[in-house]
Amino acid sequence: MPTPHRLLEIVAIAAFALLDVGLMARVAVAATTTASWCLVAVAVLTAYLVADFASGFVHWMFDRYFSVRTAIVGENFVKPFREHHVDPKGICRHDFVETNGNNCIGTVPILAAVHLLPLPPDDWLWLCVAAGTAAMMIFVFCTNQFHAWAHATRLPWYIARLQGAWLILNKRHHDIHHTAPFDRYYCITTGWLNPLLHRVRFFPLTERLIFQLTGVRAGRDDAAYAGLDPALYAAALRRAEVEEAEEALGREIPVGDGKAPQ
Ligand SMILES: [Zn+2]
Ligand SMILES: [Zn+2]
Repeated sequence: MPTPHRLLEIVAIAAFALLDVGLMARVAVAATTTASWCLVAVAVLTAYLVADFASGFVHWMFDRYFSVRTAIVGENFVKPFREHHVDPKGICRHDFVETNGNNCIGTVPILAAVHLLPLPPDDWLWLCVAAGTAAMMIFVFCTNQFHAWAHATRLPWYIARLQGAWLILNKRHHDIHHTAPFDRYYCITTGWLNPLLHRVRFFPLTERLIFQLTGVRAGRDDAAYAGLDPALYAAALRRAEVEEAEEALGREIPVGDGKAPQ
């Protein structure tokens, strides 16, 4: 018997498909000139960047605030991120609903709101907002799949090409997020914005501002979630890194006991 949250995810995926295809059809009907199609192209490119930023912002929020015990969001939104840090390859075992359901729950109200905008369809502002929103919601929908591919050991050649050209989240780039001190490179659609956000210290400065305004300090409780003390948790992460390297190499890596050879 599916849980209420899984049922909500299934309904949200169906609603997302209907609303997004409907919005794209309205854009196609409204864009009648070359100029309007150029506007649509600019809106789609901008949407890719905004989706990358949104993926980073939501990921950062659930990494650094709340806990798995927080009401409503804890079990269904915070826990997947905690699980992902402890078991990064777990995301590759998720089915279609688990991979995409949560994202659709977030995108459906936005798509519905844009459908209801009180603007005439021949208005250029409506065209920009509608094309940008329809594209952005598709990119948000793709985000968890791009993220899962960044953790996969084997990929179809065309996905590997997209990663190699950095048109979608790149594995080596995303590995930085899973490496100590685990507090950077949150964007997981393409990761294009990560170097810039890191350079301008966007997330640390936002955390400082939130602390000054509310007194709430940012932090992660992955170790607590995994039921491990921080030292054991760090050892588990190192073991996971070795296992990943072994899987890629196809052979066991001999791990010493740390003592110098006699
Ligand atoms: Zn994270
Ligand atoms: Zn990851």
